[in-house]
Amino acid sequence: MFYEKIKGLKNQLTFKLTFLYALVFILSSLLTLSIFYLRVSTITMNSIDQVLIEESLELTAFADAAKMIAEIHEEREIEEDKDFIFRIYSPDGQVLQSWNAEVLDPSAIDSLLPDILRQGKPVLATDKSLVDRNRYRTVYKTAPQDTILQIGRSLEENEAYLETFQHLIALLVLPICLCAAFFGWIVSRKAMQGVAEVTQTALDISQGAFDRRVKVENRSAEIDRLARVFNIMVDRLQGLLQSTREMNDNIAHDLRSPLTRIRGEAEMMLRGKASAEKNENAAVSIIEECDNLIHIINTMLDITETEGGIDEVKKQPVDLCQLAIEAKDFYQHIAEGKGVTIITRLKGPCLFLGDKSKLQRMTTNLLENAIKYNRSDGRVTICVFPDMDHVKMVFEDNGIGISKEDQTKIFRRFYRCDRSRSTQGIGLGLSLSQAIAQASGGNIVVESELNQGSRFVVSLPRTNKTDTASLGPRQHPRSP
Ligand code: ADP
Repeated sequence: MFYEKIKGLKNQLTFKLTFLYALVFILSSLLTLSIFYLRVSTITMNSIDQVLIEESLELTAFADAAKMIAEIHEEREIEEDKDFIFRIYSPDGQVLQSWNAEVLDPSAIDSLLPDILRQGKPVLATDKSLVDRNRYRTVYKTAPQDTILQIGRSLEENEAYLETFQHLIALLVLPICLCAAFFGWIVSRKAMQGVAEVTQTALDISQGAFDRRVKVENRSAEIDRLARVFNIMVDRLQGLLQSTREMNDNIAHDLRSPLTRIRGEAEMMLRGKASAEKNENAAVSIIEECDNLIHIINTMLDITETEGGIDEVKKQPVDLCQLAIEAKDFYQHIAEGKGVTIITRLKGPCLFLGDKSKLQRMTTNLLENAIKYNRSDGRVTICVFPDMDHVKMVFEDNGIGISKEDQTKIFRRFYRCDRSRSTQGIGLGLSLSQAIAQASGGNIVVESELNQGSRFVVSLPRTNKTDTASLGPRQHPRSP
């Protein structure tokens, strides 16, 4: 149980961050203290060496050894120089005279003799005491009448001082570790607080609280970004959920009515009491309703297929002006029947590399709507023109218009504005058109004013001339 808890803790990012922070903090603190300790010990040792060298140079400056010895005697009278040891050697390393020097092995000079004699400069060495655990710093220097002078000084005081320093460092290790762990924990807790909040929010959402969001409140930039992106994602998911719900309602509504009618007709036929003519009419009505349902299902499949992307093989250079003309020709008769005039303003050719049949479908959908939701003496204008790095197709009508609220919903599947429910339609035309535009790298936007009319603008990325090279030049009849 306890082991499991420790194991779980080890996998936590907060624990790992704390551990890393503490490790870095401890190592850098110890490194700083070690560097400081080394610096202090070097400085104290250098100052001892300096004193020894100066002393040796001063004493060996005398012209003869007797004067040097007299000076040594004099110096030993001075209180602070009492701790110094002195020795005078012959050039072959034999001790001639010594003061206070019994603690040091006189034969230590043997290995240094060549250096001392060759250099003539002071030669420094560290020797162990023969009587206790102390160490001595000594300097050898050639002296008058071919003698060698050794001056030494105990390092006891210096080492005691450094030892105190070492104890102090050892005492500091535990507080440093505790501080590092504490601050590391605080820092990593703070860093991970945002993540914990996102996790909690995700948990709440998974339990059904879809309106929960993470607060974005000037923490670190990364966490705020995570919170913002998370909220955007949840907004989109909620939107998607909402539109799926609406779509399901709409599907249920749009499918239930024809199915109920089909069932009613079939029931009537089953009862066998209706005349042959009535039965025939019922059969025709069933076929029509079935065709309508098949049309709905096929359109839904088309939307799904289009959302998957346009098949590269099906792409070909398409002149959008030509498409507009073909659509106008196709709907001219229906428009005339409704008293609607179709006007084209084409600034072409406007070439685009896409799936021609899908683009045709998008064009006819938008034109059909512009006629369908128009007044009896209305007008529809189709404009096609290049605009910067896009080609645009605009379908403008002066019909019933769309409210601001509906403008955000009309591209959803099965959505139909209340005012147009009496007009025939299945509410999938704009979804399919938008899917085609987006799969072609563009989009459709709507601008509309209730009772004033609507303007649907299709923007498609302009196709490189070389891509459309295979399309020969065409003539476009200008609109009136
Ligand atoms: P359908 O036309 O089959 O109902 P669409 O997806 O083509 O489906 O259009 C969705 C809804 O958008 C329509 O039911 C209608 O309410 C509204 N709409 C589309 N085009 C226009 C337009 N030009 N003028 C007014 N309303 C429109």
